[in-house]
Amino acid sequence: MVYNFSAGPSILPKEVIEEASKALLNFDGMGLSLLEISHRSKNFEAVMAEARQLVKDILSLPERYEVLYLQGGATLGFYTSAINLMKEGGDVAYLNTGVWAAGAIKEAKLLGNVDVVGDSSDKNHSYIPSFALSKPYEYLHYTSNNTIFGTQFQDTPKVDVPLVCDMSSDIFSKKFDASKFTLIYAGAQKNMGPAGTVMYIVDRDALGKTGRKLPTYLNLQSHIEKDSMLNTPPVFAVYCCMLTLRWIKANGGLEGMEKRNREKKDAFYNELDRNSLFQGHSVLEDRSWMNATFRLNDDNLGAEFDKMWKAAGISGIAGHRSVGGYRASMYNALPVESVQVLADVMKEFERTKG
Ligand code: PMP
Repeated sequence: MVYNFSAGPSILPKEVIEEASKALLNFDGMGLSLLEISHRSKNFEAVMAEARQLVKDILSLPERYEVLYLQGGATLGFYTSAINLMKEGGDVAYLNTGVWAAGAIKEAKLLGNVDVVGDSSDKNHSYIPSFALSKPYEYLHYTSNNTIFGTQFQDTPKVDVPLVCDMSSDIFSKKFDASKFTLIYAGAQKNMGPAGTVMYIVDRDALGKTGRKLPTYLNLQSHIEKDSMLNTPPVFAVYCCMLTLRWIKANGGLEGMEKRNREKKDAFYNELDRNSLFQGHSVLEDRSWMNATFRLNDDNLGAEFDKMWKAAGISGIAGHRSVGGYRASMYNALPVESVQVLADVMKEFERTKG
């Protein structure tokens, strides 16, 4: 048994992997692999339609929203989101809460004026900064969960400008009101599916107002007009997203995911706070439910701890180089039992070393 805490690409529900494996051999009873049929076939069109519809259902999206599955990852989403919403020489607000947020800022700066209205880099992004908006910005962009640093917005910021959000690492992990956002983008490879596609949720009414001429692929309106099939979509990634979204729906939707994820983060952080050998990176009130970042108080014990968790079958908790220590990613598909195994290893390590 392997307990997979990988930060992304990451654990998917077992049922999804099984179903996807079958489709690789014989998709939809066609006697052909999903990988060797036309994306214009009725069978695949149905997959794309369901993958889009499930997002609308799970998030109860109002009619004005469109759902797209595109390529280029959230990394291209940084630029795509900005170029679709920022007027020529525009004026937008961004929060710098980590590596990915900084990436979004860098791309937006290619297009207009970016005010960084909150920044946590002074403390290695261990907290979510408070902020105020002094102008009627075209939008505020933020990263809801900081995958590397292990901090997360606990609530949607209350501002009176349109909201744009990179939700790559916490989409569908708990209840939130998606109708508060003008645009959401999320790379699939954490809570939604395998790598290879990035999902956009966009308020159609907000598009086409920048006065810019957009390259076809970056223009979200061109994708909407073609039902997210402007060019050949990443068929396997979209199929796996559809299966994962079915799994989310069958397991209680956002409410079900929230319950599951709350149980996991409580199990982990309770042990972290109790254990005298470890400390967390994030301040308590901004802790991520998805990525728990922590370290040993005494780095000299690292080699022994590493041996112990590896022997227990735990995989993927080495920390990112910019934070060090450890990172336990607890995405939707991770069972609570896996967290219990990790908490038990930490407890046992304290017993032998403390
Ligand atoms: N934003 C966040 C919050 C992420 O966690 C990541 C990847 N880990 C990215 C953006 C970049 O995504 P991609 O590799 O899909 O371009």
